[in-house]
Amino acid sequence: MSQYQKVTAEFVKALKSAVSGKVMTGAEINEDFSHDEMPIYGKLMPEAVVEAKTTEDVAAVMSLCNKHNIPVTPRGAGTGLVGGAVAVDGGIILSTAKMNKIISYDEDNMMVTAQAGVLFNDLAADAEKHGFLYPPDPGEKFATVGGNVATNAGGMRAVKYGTTRDYVRAMTVVLPTGEIVHLGAPVSKSSSGYSLINLMIGSEGTLGIVTELTLKLLPLPKEVVSLIALYENLRDCIAAVPKMMRANLHPQTMEFMERDIVNVSESYLGKSTFPQKFENKDVNAYLLISFEGGDDDSLDGVIEKASEVVLDAGALDVLVADTPQLKKDAWAARDSFLDAINSTTKLVDECDVVVPVSKIPDFLAYIKLLAQNYDFTIQNFGHAGDGNLHIYCCSNDMEIQDFKKQVSDFMPKTYAKAYEMGGLISGEHGIGYGKRDYLAEMAGPVKMRLMKGIKDVFDPNGILNPGKVCCKL
Ligand SMILES: Cc1cc2nc3c(=O)[nH]c(=O)nc-3n(C[C@H](O)[C@H](O)[C@H](O)COP(=O)(O)OP(=O)(O)OC[C@H]3O[C@@H](n4cnc5c(N)ncnc54)[C@H](O)[C@@H]3O)c2cc1C
Repeated sequence: MSQYQKVTAEFVKALKSAVSGKVMTGAEINEDFSHDEMPIYGKLMPEAVVEAKTTEDVAAVMSLCNKHNIPVTPRGAGTGLVGGAVAVDGGIILSTAKMNKIISYDEDNMMVTAQAGVLFNDLAADAEKHGFLYPPDPGEKFATVGGNVATNAGGMRAVKYGTTRDYVRAMTVVLPTGEIVHLGAPVSKSSSGYSLINLMIGSEGTLGIVTELTLKLLPLPKEVVSLIALYENLRDCIAAVPKMMRANLHPQTMEFMERDIVNVSESYLGKSTFPQKFENKDVNAYLLISFEGGDDDSLDGVIEKASEVVLDAGALDVLVADTPQLKKDAWAARDSFLDAINSTTKLVDECDVVVPVSKIPDFLAYIKLLAQNYDFTIQNFGHAGDGNLHIYCCSNDMEIQDFKKQVSDFMPKTYAKAYEMGGLISGEHGIGYGKRDYLAEMAGPVKMRLMKGIKDVFDPNGILNPGKVCCKL
């Protein structure tokens, strides 16, 4: 039985009079609010949804819920992949999606301030209009920046620029008690006590609700060019990665992909960009690498050196995607991997481990061997430059219970191997609901005790996003 109170008609009335945003219940709630992009972790309808419009709305909801012991699940765009935005024990979904204004630019200090519900795509495009680059570049462009901060989203450009964490200067947060706090500052460094802002980043909506963000920007690069390096096998392909890193060429992105997933994506898009043969050899793996520069001339030198590096490391050939169309097609194929898998597969589960870059081939060799023991198939791709691997278990013909049972046997072995190689459970998607048992197992009792202690300080009544990350229901 739940430890929480149910949402009553009287409580809904109190919510409606406390907030300026919309409050929905029953049939007014769209089914989308019952899941995120990994529905295998559960589809559960909340008792009410509040679409907040202001920080004060969020504070009012939290005060009321804290007082009445009603759980609250923060939600951005619902594109998460670990069930983090799902109300697993009922209560309220507090959506920040309607808090979608870009508030101001501080061009001299290269920062932008925006509400948490602004979509990544809108922020990145607007920053570009102002002559700036917002460097994080997660594959899903229609997530909110609040969700990106809550999950410490990574993405394609993390190999050069780091993850979302590296671009958060300041934030406004509503604590589970309803108090409003401002964390960080519009400055570039701090040694000012414990870094509460860094605790909030990546806390997946379990410590507070982010309502406003001040984010660091960089000057916009003038030119970006992509190379596609073709390999006969994955081992050579990944072996090129540390060589490229040491060559001092600063790639902006470095993605690896195997032939199978490229085929799935290209047939989904109906367009073929990645060659399958070079001379008489089969191409089985690809590196998609981008470089940025001030002008075409400076990039020509980089392309030449980078081509030498990949060819020396065993590439069959290198294609330069220097026309806008070729670049667009190559990246469209990469960006569509998950959509392609979802559109062709009935049952999907995934893991998002991160291992030292040099360990990628051994890790994948282990996974492929392991997968032979199960009835599902696996697809994998990842951010080669960061050692961040996305392994998808896919089935069209298994029964869901059998699929779940087999996946729950496969995943712990996968995580144990990643740990053994010096890696971690999640590079960018987070723990949420789907991975919390694995986190508890891998992190061990001391780290779990610290995490739970932190959670208790922020959320003494345990009402914010229960059942996620370090908390069991
Ligand atoms: C096709 C596809 C590609 C993807 N590619 C990437 C990728 O390359 N890199 C990557 O990192 N992720 C990727 N993701 C995962 C997902 O897009 C990210 O996790 C994203 O950051 C989630 O943002 P959201 O607004 O959709 O958050 P939601 O899914 O709504 O929520 C995610 C978590 O954040 C919490 N949360 C949301 N908003 C707030 C807030 N304002 N305050 C506090 N907590 C909040 C929620 O409670 C939940 O725990 C991908 C997903 C898809 C479907």
